[in-house]
Amino acid sequence: MPVERLPGVHTGQSAADVTAEVERGLLLSTVGKAVAWARKNSMWPATFGLACCAIEMMAAGAGDYDLSRWGMEIFRASPRQADLMIVAGRVSQKMGPVLRQIYDQMPEPKWVISMGVCASSGGMFNNYGLIQGVDTIVPVDIYVPGCPPRPEMLMYGILRLHEKVQREARVP
Ligand code: SF4
Repeated sequence: MPVERLPGVHTGQSAADVTAEVERGLLLSTVGKAVAWARKNSMWPATFGLACCAIEMMAAGAGDYDLSRWGMEIFRASPRQADLMIVAGRVSQKMGPVLRQIYDQMPEPKWVISMGVCASSGGMFNNYGLIQGVDTIVPVDIYVPGCPPRPEMLMYGILRLHEKVQREARVP
């Protein structure tokens, strides 16, 4: 679209103002997408295995399934170095505040995957000892169903999360 036709009537802006605005918008949009691409291809999960689901999470990171294909092979023991929390397993009432504290210690932007029915809804453990859904403590981006979900299912959830990160690309 010729930029000269945009200014004037509704905004009162000059052609030069509009041109500068359009160029800035294009540049920032591209930067935002590039940053999102880098983020989704270098997510570092925090180590947060809580129960049996964690075995499948560990398998996903091992050679057979190879999460490193998406730059994710490094599970960080420090939340300061992680931007993805995979809650793998049931969350006890005592563990809830700890989980929230670790989430708070992760730098922005950050994402959460709830792995397995126990983490997502308490599963078959409908009792006072367990939190009935980790989304009551932290915001969850992706729910992976199953008991336990196989590594392929976790990987599918991770790829859906990648799409979400790219879709919500924002200028840092
Ligand atoms: S969903 Fe199944 S495998 Fe996962 S923590 Fe619960 S009981 Fe264990």
